Amino acid sequence: PLPPPPARETLLSDLKITNLHKRYGSVEILKDVNLEIKSGEFVVFVGPSGSGKSTLLRCISGLETITSGTLEIDGRVVNEVAPSKRGIAMVFQSYALYPHMTVFENMAFGLTLEKDKNDKEEIRKRVENAAELLQITPYLARLPKQLSGGQRQRVAIGRAIVRDPKVFLFDEPLSNLDAALRVATRIEIAKLHESMHNVTMIYVTHDQVEAMTLADRICVLRDGLVEQVGTPMELYEKPDSLFVAGFIGSPKMNFIDGAKAAPFGAHTVGVRGEHLVIKPSDGVWNGTVIHTENLGADSYVYLEMGTEEPVVVRLDGVNSYKSGDVVHISPMDDKIHRFDAAGKPIR
Ligand code: ADP
Ligand code: MG
Repeated sequence: PLPPPPARETLLSDLKITNLHKRYGSVEILKDVNLEIKSGEFVVFVGPSGSGKSTLLRCISGLETITSGTLEIDGRVVNEVAPSKRGIAMVFQSYALYPHMTVFENMAFGLTLEKDKNDKEEIRKRVENAAELLQITPYLARLPKQLSGGQRQRVAIGRAIVRDPKVFLFDEPLSNLDAALRVATRIEIAKLHESMHNVTMIYVTHDQVEAMTLADRICVLRDGLVEQVGTPMELYEKPDSLFVAGFIGSPKMNFIDGAKAAPFGAHTVGVRGEHLVIKPSDGVWNGTVIHTENLGADSYVYLEMGTEEPVVVRLDGVNSYKSGDVVHISPMDDKIHRFDAAGKPIR
């Protein structure tokens, strides 16, 4: 069982970003970002590479200054507040532990610099509590090189926890871990968030499963702007644009346009692979199988249909379709997304 949440001076960690712009020289990277995050929320930033996710996190942390706009934490403008005074801790993809220090020393190091009185007993307690929470107590005396990648990333998270931040920022923290460790550590982070009362987490990832499973709300960034913010299911079921429709979900939503979309009164029809059924005849569309992938639990059938990209159908279990088979497909009832020529949904 997890230890009780630490006592907190304040339970507030509301974050408000208003008209935030960030320029490097003449290049505008963040172009008017507006976002409110409630105390205790878990918000995940997703978006293509270069869309400004890391820059936005660094602006929130104070590692980067903002060009204009305001950043408020608990109703206080922190634009000019030093990173160490914002009550924020950041965990990066590369753990950057000090190789010559033990796990304990690595976790304590920031505090020894920060604590005015250098209270050794208080620091020891905090490190031990964080180690307990992350199940790394047995490794406190080890050096980083004596740990696995997953254990090292826990130490990096522990280093953030000991600072007792109100807001945690994570920038693709699991990208360096192998698949099994990613899953295990993802679940640890979810439990950590549950166990720490009212601690806000902002988490950048390009992993669909991490975004869908960890987030209270997902914020989709596109080219320095917030494209849509919503719960994972809102984004999955009601994307506000063709861009979000294509970005959220794996496999990617199929887009069908032209004459094949016209009967639906749309410029483009979007339908997810899991919402298509294959029929022996009388489907809405037909196509030719060009490739199949069997993953055991489910399988993908790729169809050539004259669309820009092959249409993918996701089926439960193993399938026995072969390249060259001609099949008929239909969307399940109420499972199509209609978009106009500007990529906006028609509802
Ligand atoms: P993401 O994390 O979404 O992949 P970043 O926030 O790292 O994107 O980068 C957004 C854009 O800002 C990119 O085009 C990147 O090249 C640019 N950029 C990031 N840091 C700097 C910098 N220090 N100077 C100039 N341009 C930068
Ligand atoms: Mg980044």
